[in-house]
Amino acid sequence: MRYILLCAALFLPGSLALPIHLESVSFYFQNYLDRFFPPINKADGRTLEDKIKEMQKFFHLTVTGKFNSETEEMMDQPRCGIPDVLDYSTFPGNPRWRKNLLTYRILNYTPDLPRFMVEEAIEKAFKVWSDVTPLKFQKVARREADILIRFAHGAHGDSYPFDGRGGILAHAFAPGSGLGGDAHFDEGFLTPFLGTNLFLVAAHEFGHSLGLGHSNVQGALMYPIYRYWNPDTFSLPDDDRQGIQKLYGNFSVRC
Ligand SMILES: [Zn+2]
Ligand SMILES: [Zn+2]
Repeated sequence: MRYILLCAALFLPGSLALPIHLESVSFYFQNYLDRFFPPINKADGRTLEDKIKEMQKFFHLTVTGKFNSETEEMMDQPRCGIPDVLDYSTFPGNPRWRKNLLTYRILNYTPDLPRFMVEEAIEKAFKVWSDVTPLKFQKVARREADILIRFAHGAHGDSYPFDGRGGILAHAFAPGSGLGGDAHFDEGFLTPFLGTNLFLVAAHEFGHSLGLGHSNVQGALMYPIYRYWNPDTFSLPDDDRQGIQKLYGNFSVRC
C-alpha cells in the first residue's frame, strides 16, 4: 500500500493531494480485488462494495463493504499470488494428477540461499503432502518433470509478474500439462529462517501444484496469507489434510 501511494504522489500534481490519496487507495484496492477476487463470469455484476464485502468475509473481517484500516492491514500482508475465491474458477474441474509418482525439477536456485538449503526445503515441502496421501515425489535433474520449480523476480515469462516488494511471494499452477503443476518463487523474499521461510511457502504452493485452491480457514496451510510456523514442528492442519485426501485418498491405500 505504501509503495502504491508513493508512486502516485510522485507522478500526479501536488494540488490534487487529497484526491490523489483517495484515488490511489481506490486504485490499489481495485487492483487487489480484481486480482484476488476476479469476476466469476462475463456477466458478473458485482459492485466494488460487493467485492469488498466478499474479501472481508473471506478473511473473517468486519463486513462493511467499505475500505478501512482493518482491510488495509490485511491487504499489506505478504501472500500467495493465486486468487482467493473458492468454488469458482481457480482450478476449474477439480484437476488432479492421474498418477501417484510425480517428478519435480529445480530449474534454478536463488542466490540468497545455499543450494542444499533450497533442496532440503523443497523436499520437506513435498513430504508434507506425501505423508498424508499415496503420492510420491521424485527429484530429477535433467529430463522433463511434472512440476518445474523456478526462482524469479519481476516479469518471468508468464502473465503473473512478481511485484518486487514482497507482497506476492510465489504462485503455482494447478495440475496439467505445460505450466501445469509448476511453482514460481520470488527469489528476493525467501529465507531458510524467520521472515518468509521457503519450506512454508513451498508447502503452500505445492498444495496448488496438486490441485488445492485457497482455504479461508485461518490456520490452514492453504490460507492465502503468509504465516510463520516453526518448520521443525510443523504438522499439516486438518483442513488441508481433508482437502488433499479428497483428491488423492489417504496414505493407507498406498500401493
Ligand atoms: Zn496460494
Ligand atoms: Zn510465474
